[in-house]
Amino acid sequence: MRNIRHFGGYGTFDRTRPLTHGRQRYVGEAAGLQDYLFGFGIRHAMVSGFLAGRSIIDGADYDRLCRTALGHHLRTSLINRYVYEFMGHTGYDLLVRLSSRARNQRTFWSKIYTKPVLRMLLYPVALRAAKEKIRIRAQF
Ligand SMILES: Cc1cc2nc3c(=O)[nH]c(=O)nc-3n(C[C@H](O)[C@H](O)[C@H](O)COP(=O)(O)OP(=O)(O)OC[C@H]3O[C@@H](n4cnc5c(N)ncnc54)[C@H](O)[C@@H]3O)c2cc1C
Repeated sequence: MRNIRHFGGYGTFDRTRPLTHGRQRYVGEAAGLQDYLFGFGIRHAMVSGFLAGRSIIDGADYDRLCRTALGHHLRTSLINRYVYEFMGHTGYDLLVRLSSRARNQRTFWSKIYTKPVLRMLLYPVALRAAKEKIRIRAQF
């Protein structure tokens, strides 16, 4: 490649942020709802937008609806990110290689994001690591 220009951005993953403030409902990234592994957020924005609308119509608890619908995925993505960062380049290579060999990409990536029974054991460690990172960043 010639004339390479690196670029980046930031995401807004936050499981502690309140999803409501008075009558306001926060959705998508404004609510901190984003995939922690790769920063995907379109589905979360759409789902939370839908749930916000439903909570207004039905008078349901928006916070609870969101945590029920997205909580599991948010937790899994936190663990995935932890494992991904822990393994470094080796993990990246492995992921790319396994993904390229997979017959069905949808099935492969679904496995990464669901049924993390064993990986769930890592959740407290992943959460601590994420919190530590936020604390370190906040110091600068
Ligand atoms: C380069 C890049 C690639 C990405 N690729 C993917 C991908 O492949 N798949 C995926 O799922 N996600 C992807 N994402 C993430 C995804 O785009 C976001 O997570 C998602 O768009 C968040 O949706 P949102 O509605 O919460 O916020 P946004 O899409 O950011 O929408 C917020 C809107 O509110 C407007 N706004 C802000 N403040 C105000 C204000 N005070 N008054 C009025 N309007 C305001 C903004 O201008 C903006 O239009 C990508 C992000 C980036 C940056």
